[in-house]
Amino acid sequence: MAFLRDDLTQLAAYKSPHPTGSGSEATLIQPVLDGLDTNESPIDLPEDLKAELAEAYRHQILANRYPNGDHQALKQAVVSYAVQSGGIDPKTISLENVTLGNGSDELIRSVLMATCLGNYGSILVSEPTFSMYGILANTLGIKVCRLQRQNDFAVDTVAAQSAIESTEASDAPPVRAVFMVHPNSPTGNALTQRELDWLTQLSTDILVVVDEAYFEFSGHTTLAEALSRPNWLVLRTFSKAFRLAAHRVGYGIAHPAIISALEKLRLPYNLPSFSQTAALTALAHSDRLLTQIPTLISERDRLSSVLSEHPYLRVWPSNSNFIYVRLSDRGLAALTVTNQADGLVQVFEQLRASGTLIRHTGGGLRISIGTAAENERTLTNLQQVLGSKP
Ligand SMILES: *Cc1c(COP(=O)(O)O)cnc(C)c1O
Repeated sequence: MAFLRDDLTQLAAYKSPHPTGSGSEATLIQPVLDGLDTNESPIDLPEDLKAELAEAYRHQILANRYPNGDHQALKQAVVSYAVQSGGIDPKTISLENVTLGNGSDELIRSVLMATCLGNYGSILVSEPTFSMYGILANTLGIKVCRLQRQNDFAVDTVAAQSAIESTEASDAPPVRAVFMVHPNSPTGNALTQRELDWLTQLSTDILVVVDEAYFEFSGHTTLAEALSRPNWLVLRTFSKAFRLAAHRVGYGIAHPAIISALEKLRLPYNLPSFSQTAALTALAHSDRLLTQIPTLISERDRLSSVLSEHPYLRVWPSNSNFIYVRLSDRGLAALTVTNQADGLVQVFEQLRASGTLIRHTGGGLRISIGTAAENERTLTNLQQVLGSKP
């Protein structure tokens, strides 16, 4: 098949790890699992909001017509939410600072196309981190400069700086975009002041992308930077705290010149009418939808403190709606494995067999916070898999 790019043979299609789906037939043939692997909200939209959406579909949305293509109403609602939640001066933001994507994944791809396509540049990521940056870069033939995070999962800024300088000094495409998750996934740590200082002193020839998918859980934002710097983009999503993963809506906030480049690359009708309506409804009821956050945070802290007491686990503090763990040396010995990866596979698979689906990623296990009942089963199943304490 000479018409296909050679490098595509090296890549695999993205497979959803989530067999429970949204009530799909998969649940008929597989045991129903607690889906604690993709960090969505465990709570569906309230009934009355779903009813409101159903009414909107019946009476307002024209199925035969393309959706609104300029997203003005939703952009305006995002601006209001950014002001209300981010403590920023309303005079510093307008619709020109906002772009909407079919999930923030679409925006990540547009950023890659805008900054790196055709060997114009490469990206820098610090691992473990969100895997989509590297995956999407690879599909576009874009080089990825991968660095390891420090033991505390902060970015090794010295190594990162020298990696950037060495690409500048070579024939390789220069680093044009640095991707940071704030707080990071899968490790849960927010950017420290030292990391932020490093990002702010980067050359303005490099785009700083701060992915704030978990902003509502951490309360930390860099929106003020995105609105005052020419090379800073904040990405957010409706897929996590806003309970709209099914609708695929994400947004980016940045200097108008960055936004206008991203708008050139997006597909004309990238956001279905129903998704726009859902996001508008969620923002109109944001106070109510976000009341679940303190509950999820206290569940996270409860789970985290119970797991921290287990001698077979190492648990890291989290600023988000998930917890990252690895096996301790005693845990590896108890499972009679010699390396972390083998132990994690064992725990992951036994947990899945007992009905709890988590994510094995980035050299550890990432456990999403679910409902209280799901979390209770996570604890019971994990304790069973790890065996009774010696
Ligand atoms: C979940 C997540 C996203 C969201 O992607 P969508 O395409 O908006 O669903 C983006 N970035 C990170 C780090 C995430 O964890």
